[in-house]
Amino acid sequence: MTRPSASGRIEVICGCMFSGKTEELIRRLNHVRIARQALAAFTPRRDTRYRPGNLVSHNGLSVAAQIVDTVDDIPTLVPAGAVAVALDELHFLDDPPERVVAVCQALADAGHRVIVAGLDQDFRALPFPALAQLMAVAEQVDKLMAICVRCGAYATRSQRLIDGRPAPRAAPTIAVGGLELYEARCRACYEAPA
Ligand SMILES: [Zn+2]
Repeated sequence: MTRPSASGRIEVICGCMFSGKTEELIRRLNHVRIARQALAAFTPRRDTRYRPGNLVSHNGLSVAAQIVDTVDDIPTLVPAGAVAVALDELHFLDDPPERVVAVCQALADAGHRVIVAGLDQDFRALPFPALAQLMAVAEQVDKLMAICVRCGAYATRSQRLIDGRPAPRAAPTIAVGGLELYEARCRACYEAPA
C-alpha cells in the first residue's frame, strides 16, 4: 500500500448556471501551463453545447479536453507526468456518486491535483449528489455566484424555463442548454417547480 502523496489534492469549483465555473477552471489550467506542468482535461460526452472535446467558457476561452463516458475512463487516460487532472461539467456523469468520489480520491492519493467543476444544484435547487460528496472531501471548495436576471442580486440557483414558465419538477434532471433554457436567479426570485 503506497502512502498518499503530499502533492495530491481535490479542488471543487461549483455554483449555478452562468456563475463562471468553466472560466475559473480554465484560469487555473492556464496557471498550470504557465508553470510548465503537464495537465489532462476531461469532459463528459453529454455536454454538446460546444465543440466536443474542448472545455469552452461562455466567454470563448478554451482548453483541449478528452471526452469520457464514465469517470472510470479518466484514470486510464491520464498520461504519466500529468500534474493536474481537470474534469468539467461533473453533473453530466451518470456514475454513482460513490464511484465519482472514489476515482477522484484515488487520483489525488496518487499525487494529482484534481480540479472538478460542476453545478452544485439541479433546477429543483436540490444538490447533485456526486458534487455534494466531493465538496465534503475536497481540500478546496470555491462556490461561485452569478447575477440574478430578475433583481441583480447574487444568484445561486438555476431556473429552468419552458416557454417562460418554470419547468415542472418531474422534468428530467439534465437538459443541456444555455440562455434559452436557464436563468440564474437568487433565492428570492427563484420559483420552485410545481
Ligand atoms: Zn433576484
